[in-house]
Amino acid sequence: MNPDDLAFDQRHIWHPYTSMTAPLPVYPVVAARGCELELASGETLVDGMSSWWAAIHGYGHPRLNAAMKNQIDAMSHVMFGGITHPPAVALCRKLVAMTPDPLECVFLADSGSVAVEVAMKMALQYWHARGTPRQRFITLRHGYHGDTFGAMSACDPDNSMHSLWKGYLPENLFAPAPTCRFDDEWDEQDIVPFARLFAAHRHELAAVILEPVVQGAGGMRFYHPTWLKRIRQMCDREGVLLIADEIATGFGRTGELFACHHAGIAPDILCLGKALTGGTMTLSATLTTRAVADTISNGEAGCFMHGPTFMGNPLACAVANESLAILESGEWRGQVAAIETQLRAELAPCRESPQVRDVRVLGAIGVVETERPVNMAALQRFFVSQGVWIRPFGRLIYLMPPYVITPSQLARLTAAVVRAVNDPALFQN
Ligand SMILES: *Cc1c(COP(=O)(O)O)cnc(C)c1O
Repeated sequence: MNPDDLAFDQRHIWHPYTSMTAPLPVYPVVAARGCELELASGETLVDGMSSWWAAIHGYGHPRLNAAMKNQIDAMSHVMFGGITHPPAVALCRKLVAMTPDPLECVFLADSGSVAVEVAMKMALQYWHARGTPRQRFITLRHGYHGDTFGAMSACDPDNSMHSLWKGYLPENLFAPAPTCRFDDEWDEQDIVPFARLFAAHRHELAAVILEPVVQGAGGMRFYHPTWLKRIRQMCDREGVLLIADEIATGFGRTGELFACHHAGIAPDILCLGKALTGGTMTLSATLTTRAVADTISNGEAGCFMHGPTFMGNPLACAVANESLAILESGEWRGQVAAIETQLRAELAPCRESPQVRDVRVLGAIGVVETERPVNMAALQRFFVSQGVWIRPFGRLIYLMPPYVITPSQLARLTAAVVRAVNDPALFQN
């Protein structure tokens, strides 16, 4: 890439959560293969991010590439209104089979945020159709559900700066985030504030919306599965719907195929995205039960009021279908377990650094929480100099590598993290 292109990028192109006047540096990548990104300079970096939870099989996987090439020659896209096609049917069959039993009606959309909008709209239409409209959602602090307004209304109010949108954003209910950690002994007290808030508002609640077990972008926190069991019980008792946002956790990342499995529960509505296409194309799915789907369909509108232009994109469905076929071999289970063991062993030394507040690992997710926020530009430069791609935020340095990473590649990632937390210059004062 020539220097002109980089200058144009800095001047004209917005990157995620960046300033146009003081943009952070960006690194030009020209290719990605296996678990490595190739920079324009020719250097290669071991990838610790799976491109934000998505590239679980690594980059340029021959089966995923073949699935896309084959589909392109048949058709890249065709509208989904009044038309169906084999890739969508095959994919939805797989999704219905692999997700918890009562989920059997699938809505395909184009991104995770839209899957969340669809889930929330399903809940609103469900209550409207029952003749008792309800418009309130209850969720947990430190959650993250996406950047569109409905999704944002369920994100942590401080992290996603609800103060900016006051008066425009729907006001939902926020219970304190779980403090009982995934492998702590269960503490019944931990759920009490949630239970109280739920009870006080039970007649106006359309749904609970949460990320099961792992809170991702809102803080990388792992909480006790019994939280989910209790919430499922409360929802059942009051007839409130439960929306599980598994956009980050779905497809094996936490050591179970879906994070809900840790608690043995099924939600009424499930959101999937990110790893759905193995990190190749944007696609999401929202699944619900026959009962919810029937109620919506028998309501005043007579249909579900949503239909994106690129709904069910055949190219994305074909590659998602192949990604799920790779998962069906079951190999991911051993891979994720091995990554978990290695992350636990190799991140443990971080605990000795005075910069570090906490180290936690679950499945193929390793998190080092620091005392002070990272100096983003300096730390990013440091990681690139170490030959690794790790993208920290705030006080969190975390790894979620592709499942196919080798032990020596993973060791490079963890060694870079250990070195980083021992250099105070990489953190803000
Ligand atoms: C990333 C994410 C989303 C939003 O998905 P996009 O594809 O970025 O719109 C929603 N929920 C969770 C839990 C996520 O991690």
